[in-house]
Amino acid sequence: MPIRLSKSKLLAFRQCERRLWLELHRPRLRQDDGASQAAFAVGHQVGDLARSLYDPGRLGVLLDPQTEGFDAALARSRELLASAQPVFEAGFAAAGALAFADILLPVDGGARRWRMVEVKSSTSVKDYHREDAAIQAYVARAAGVQLEGIALARIDSRWTYPGKGDYRGLLVEEDLSAEAFARGAEVASWIARAQAVAAQEDEPAIQPGEHCDSPYACGFAAHCGGGAPAAEYPVQWLPRIASRALKERIAGGAADMRELPDELLNDKQRRVKSHTLSGEVYFDAAGAAADLAPHPLPACFIDFETISFAVPIWQGTRPFQMIPFQFSVHRLDDAGGLAHRAFLDLSGDDPSRGFAEALLGACAGEGPVFVYNAGFETARIAELAARFADLAPGLLALNARVVDLLPVARERYYHPGQQGSWSIKQVLPAVAPELRYEQLDGVQDGGAAMHAFMEAIDPGTEAARRQQIEGQLLAYCHLDTLAMVRLWEVFSGRLE
Ligand code: SF4
Repeated sequence: MPIRLSKSKLLAFRQCERRLWLELHRPRLRQDDGASQAAFAVGHQVGDLARSLYDPGRLGVLLDPQTEGFDAALARSRELLASAQPVFEAGFAAAGALAFADILLPVDGGARRWRMVEVKSSTSVKDYHREDAAIQAYVARAAGVQLEGIALARIDSRWTYPGKGDYRGLLVEEDLSAEAFARGAEVASWIARAQAVAAQEDEPAIQPGEHCDSPYACGFAAHCGGGAPAAEYPVQWLPRIASRALKERIAGGAADMRELPDELLNDKQRRVKSHTLSGEVYFDAAGAAADLAPHPLPACFIDFETISFAVPIWQGTRPFQMIPFQFSVHRLDDAGGLAHRAFLDLSGDDPSRGFAEALLGACAGEGPVFVYNAGFETARIAELAARFADLAPGLLALNARVVDLLPVARERYYHPGQQGSWSIKQVLPAVAPELRYEQLDGVQDGGAAMHAFMEAIDPGTEAARRQQIEGQLLAYCHLDTLAMVRLWEVFSGRLE
């Protein structure tokens, strides 16, 4: 007898038949990474908010199939569909599939006709959202629900939080009724094929590929990739693989850069290949010094840490806006003297204004402001200028002084240990081996900095722990700008 496949299993099937089989037969092999778990948490948060937005009078009923059991939830859903109140997480089983609707709203006061809304913590409608809606509509209708329409509620990234808990406008609807209703036969064919895969005794022999990360990072990657021998010099270390010929060669099975002829590579790719294979450092010292010569001392070296929220918590900010909460500034004077300034706000209040004022103070004066990957810092400074008109002239003047060290590194330097990456953490070990991120306590990268910040502003975090996080964040950001100073010293010819 065929099993009932949930919508999430059908979407797993749409990504990869092997994934569906593993989800059903070997679920313990699945390892979700931190990013996937964080995405689940954001999804729950947006879902909770959506219920309050769609049902401000709290007239609706929320079902919880995890605690009350699937069959009980299905039975209660049938009862509730005879009423005329919003229903959240109503379940339907039909045609070999099972689906739970985020939101069901009675149409026209309740003549047992319904409109379904699926809530996504995304800022645009993706193809897999459309498939999701098609499955929901098909199963609900097959189960006898009189479904008049289906919409997707997504986050409006242009919306600005007015404060005081007023989240009206955060979600916008896209009506997917016509498309979802037209795809019934397609969904039926997916279910039939997925049932056949589920009934297979053997694991499907599908090899890992680009589909493993799209639309979601698959939690079975370690299992599926475990048996394949790793290339000694992976083609993924080559920068910007864009040419069709190169892509085709890689899609055809070339995994090691020794399998790629030089004529298929551009200059930079050839450089990475030859220095990776030889193990020798590439450094165009004269070119790097010439790049930096127009930007003499005194100079500042700056780096920001940011946080973003799908559901903004600070008035005047947008969903997913990257809000700076910390900076480190190293200042190098004409005589080579080095001074350091830092800003970190763990109060839980919006750090933006204090950050902007402190940054202007730390970078006061003239001279270049060096960053590593200018797009990030200059965008944050421009956003602060847009929010605080009185600080805008100073902030925009600061942006005009920004000089990016990343293009210099990309053009003039490559060490085989970089493995195709020019992130400062990859470049640093060869340039300044005495500066090591691995020696930092607790916070060693931007993702960890965000988690640490979230923990620190949580009112439930004890003072001693908050103090410990503060020290870790300050040490991490300090190292980022000290690393830039060392890079500048090497590139400008001050240090060998
Ligand atoms: S890792 Fe890739 S091949 Fe393996 S189950 Fe997941 S999507 Fe399929």
